[in-house]
Amino acid sequence: MKLNNQSISNFNFIILLFCFLIFHSVIFSSCIKHEEEIAPNTELYVKIAKWQGNKKAAILLQFDDSTPGQAQLGVPALNSRNFVGTWYVNPGRDAFISNINTWENIAPEGGQELANHTMTHTGANTYEEVVYEVGEASKIIWKIRGDENFGSLIAFNRGGGTTWDEEDLANVLDEYYNIDRLSYIGIRLIALSVPAGSNANEMYEIIPLAIQDSIIGSLHFHGISAEDGDPPMDWGNAGVWIYEFEKLLDKLEDIKNDIWICGYIQVYKYIKEKDSATIAIEQNSENKYTVALTSETDPKYFNEELTIVASIPGIWKSCTVTQNNKTENYSLSNGILIFNALPNKGDIVIEKKL
Ligand SMILES: [Zn+2]
Repeated sequence: MKLNNQSISNFNFIILLFCFLIFHSVIFSSCIKHEEEIAPNTELYVKIAKWQGNKKAAILLQFDDSTPGQAQLGVPALNSRNFVGTWYVNPGRDAFISNINTWENIAPEGGQELANHTMTHTGANTYEEVVYEVGEASKIIWKIRGDENFGSLIAFNRGGGTTWDEEDLANVLDEYYNIDRLSYIGIRLIALSVPAGSNANEMYEIIPLAIQDSIIGSLHFHGISAEDGDPPMDWGNAGVWIYEFEKLLDKLEDIKNDIWICGYIQVYKYIKEKDSATIAIEQNSENKYTVALTSETDPKYFNEELTIVASIPGIWKSCTVTQNNKTENYSLSNGILIFNALPNKGDIVIEKKL
C-alpha cells in the first residue's frame, strides 16, 4: 500500500495517542497501587476464629489400646514434630504398665493428650465395675497430668467388642468428666478408622476433605509396627508400619499452616467455649483498644485459648496484647491482628507500638 503524507501524519498521530494512553494508564495504575500501600485501614472488627491459630481445619490423631508400638514408636514420632495426639490408654493392662515411662513422662512432656479407654478393656457387668473401669483410669490420667481428681476433662472411648449398661456408663462418664468421643460436639467430623497395612497416601485421604469443608478430620489408629508385614503387627494387633506413619506425619507437617493438629479435649473445649462466647472491641484512644471476651463455659474445665482476629483501623505495624498481666508482642498484616486469649480472664488490651 502506498501512503501519502496525510495518511503518514494520521498514522503518527494514532501511534502518539496510543503511547500517551499506555503511559497514562501506567502512571494512573501506579498511583492506585501507591494509594493502596499507604491507605490506612478503616475497618474495626473483632471475631473468634473457627479454629485455633486461624487454621482451616482441626485434625485429630487418635490411638486406641496403648500398644507397645504406640509407646515406643508413635509417641516419639509425634513428640519430635510437636504434634498432639489423643492416646486412649488401658492403665490396667500389661502393655501400658511395661511402657509406663512413656505414658507417665515422655508423652505428657511432649504435650500428648492421654484419654480413657477403660482400665482393662473388658467392659462391665455391674455399676461398681463401671466405676472401676472408667473412674480408676480417670484418676490415673489426672495424676499423670498433675491435676487433682475430677480436675479436668478426659476423652473416652469404650473398648471395641465390650458390653455396658448404657445408663450406668452415661452416669459414670458424667460424674468423671469424661467426654465420649462418639458424641457430637457441634461441628461435623470426618473420620477414618485406619485399615491395617495402610500406606501414607491412604491415611492422608480425608485430610484435604476436612480442609475443604473446614471441619474436624479424625484418624483412628491401632497398632504401629516397627517392621513392614502383611499386615504389619504390633502386640498381636494389625496396624500400620512406622515408615508409612512417619511419611503421613511428614505430609501433615508440609501443610501445618492450614491444620490445627490437636487433642480431642482441646478441640472439644475450643468449640464449646466459642459456641457460648461473646466478644466486643472498644476504642479507648487513637493507640489503644480493649477487647472483652467472655464465655458461658466453666473456666476451670474450659481453658483452651481462643484465637482472636481483629481488624485495627489506622496504620499499625506492631502492637502489644495484654491479658491477665501478661504482655506479648505482635505484628499486624494489612491491619489484621491475630492473637490467642482465654475467655473470662479479664479485658484484653491492645496498644500500638510507637
Ligand atoms: Zn480398643
